[in-house]
Amino acid sequence: MGFADRYLHSVNSSNLLDDEHHHATDALCAAAVADTAGAGFGALLSRVKYADGTQHKMFESGSANLAGLLRIWTARVIEKGRERKWVKIGNAWDGQAAEALYRRVAERSLAHWLDGKCPTCAGTGNKDRRICTPCKGTGRGEVGGQGFERERVLDMVSELEGLLQAHNARAAGMLRGAWHTHLS
Ligand SMILES: [Zn+2]
Repeated sequence: MGFADRYLHSVNSSNLLDDEHHHATDALCAAAVADTAGAGFGALLSRVKYADGTQHKMFESGSANLAGLLRIWTARVIEKGRERKWVKIGNAWDGQAAEALYRRVAERSLAHWLDGKCPTCAGTGNKDRRICTPCKGTGRGEVGGQGFERERVLDMVSELEGLLQAHNARAAGMLRGAWHTHLS
């Protein structure tokens, strides 16, 4: 289990619903949720992933962002899971099982996306000046488990990557725009 795994797991499993800190983060998150289709969520992803250069520093100083990100992401995964009918809901028990599945998928995909590094090359993609064999140079670790849940985790990891790339492209576009304006 990587650092993000452990951190997110503790966030997800402890009941933070009533503390004040949580309410403060809620306001921030509400703003981001309102804008999940647009720049807000991508910006938050980028901030959490790259905030202070190093991941450990980021977790210490940006844990509120990360907790918020997990909440927003869980809400999105629940939405997707329902939309795509990951679980056929026949009775109340199915509903609970579905809810638990959505939460696990959200937590595991976010943790993997944040620091799911390949243990052989420590995420560099290279080993002994060659392309790392286990990860084929991607630097990403394997998503554990198997079957349906693992597939959904992988889906959600690529969604996160897509959201971040869209955000980066938008940000780069804005930067270029600003530069041109500056020059003219
Ligand atoms: Zn590797």
